[in-house]
Amino acid sequence: MVYRFPSSLIMWQIYLRERRLDSMRLVIPALSGMLSLMSILTAVSVSGSDHFETWSLWVTAVLSLVLSYLTWRLMDKDERQQIAGTLFIGGHIVLLTLVYSQTWSSHNIVPFLFGFLILISNMLLYNGASFVIWPVSSGLIIVTAYIVSGRDLNAALAALIPIFFNLVLATISYLSTYDWELALESVNEIRQKAQTRRDELFTIKEALDHSNAELRFSNEALEIARQDALNERDLRTRFMNNVSHELRTPLNAIVNFAHIIAAGACGPTTERQTDYLHRIEQAGWHSLNVLNDLLDLAQIQAGEFRLNLQVVNLYNICEDAMSNTRGLILDKPIDLIRDYPSEWPHVNVDAVRLKQALINLLGNAAKYTDEGSIGLRVRQNGHSVTVMVADTGIGIAPEHHEVIFQEFRQVNEGDARKRIGTGLGLPITRHLIERHGGSLTLISEPGKGSVFTLTLPVHQEDGTATGMAV
Ligand code: ADP
Repeated sequence: MVYRFPSSLIMWQIYLRERRLDSMRLVIPALSGMLSLMSILTAVSVSGSDHFETWSLWVTAVLSLVLSYLTWRLMDKDERQQIAGTLFIGGHIVLLTLVYSQTWSSHNIVPFLFGFLILISNMLLYNGASFVIWPVSSGLIIVTAYIVSGRDLNAALAALIPIFFNLVLATISYLSTYDWELALESVNEIRQKAQTRRDELFTIKEALDHSNAELRFSNEALEIARQDALNERDLRTRFMNNVSHELRTPLNAIVNFAHIIAAGACGPTTERQTDYLHRIEQAGWHSLNVLNDLLDLAQIQAGEFRLNLQVVNLYNICEDAMSNTRGLILDKPIDLIRDYPSEWPHVNVDAVRLKQALINLLGNAAKYTDEGSIGLRVRQNGHSVTVMVADTGIGIAPEHHEVIFQEFRQVNEGDARKRIGTGLGLPITRHLIERHGGSLTLISEPGKGSVFTLTLPVHQEDGTATGMAV
């Protein structure tokens, strides 16, 4: 809850009264103390002299303190400051007049003492009060002097000097109080602005606290979600490893034993048996490849895919991939074309993974090409090397150029069914290439074949290959 101040005018009046009160608390006891002390000292110093009646001095010494006490008490009560001020100044005017009448002489200093009351009146009552106190005190001085001097007009006129002096004091006091009020007003304005600013800051702080609490809550929820995700990832990784082991082992056994039996290691087989054994072997390989793709994808998605980098000659990788492709097009009228550079660049790659990427591209070319050619073109352009896999197959419509790089997406549905696949080869291939700091792009049109271009950074002598992420 923000405290709101009342209207600025009321605020200003309250503030002014408080400041006047502060001044009165200081001035009243000081002035009273001074007058009492002066009265006592004068009374003691002139005692014994016939000329002076000292009782009025003793009365003043005591009553000044009493007035001071009463004023002090009244001051603390709300709305009584004016009465307190009037009581203090009025009481002291009476006391000083009494002292003056009892101690009158032509060089008496008491009329000057009225000047103190005139000085503080603007502060104690209101600004301008000095011009009320001054004529009152002046009148009392002149009348007292006239009466006490035995109706001597000259004696009364001699009091004009302190009266004029008091007028100067009244004016100075008025002007300085006016200045004081102006200064106070600007201080008050600044104070109010500071208060408004403080209120705004308080509101902002409350809003901030609220947001912080929400943020803390979201962070906690996030942390829980993160932990859940980590647990789930661990679980998935363990599951994948188990599945991998459980499936790979029997599949390897099927593939290997089918191959061994077909090769005649367990005795002669009939032509039909050999044909079936080949089919078993092929189906086994296919299942192993699909399983490997699924495991790769799982690793990529879990962020656990790692590369084993080493500097190798690109030639060996290309040749290995090409010889693998030859086996895929034995029964098709397709030429395998090599367009190699005279000098082979070295690349800092995971050779197994790069070969896997090339085999994927060449395998697709073999799968989706029925006749014509499949070419592998390698060129170095400055700090990068491009490897192009071009075929004269069925091609890919432009609207499918991005789709085919998404997981499990296949196009040419009818053909795809004929050519079994999972839709994982290209997404994994692109990921492999990008992890090597390279890129994989496609140019193709239906019926005009396809060109997949793979770009890799060349290994520099100083050991750098830009853009690599392991
Ligand atoms: P799949 O296992 O289905 O081959 P890929 O991710 O390797 O999965 O390929 C996705 C799709 O891209 C394929 O289904 C096919 O439609 C298309 N495709 C890929 N390579 C070629 C190519 N060389 N010629 C024509 N279509 C291709």
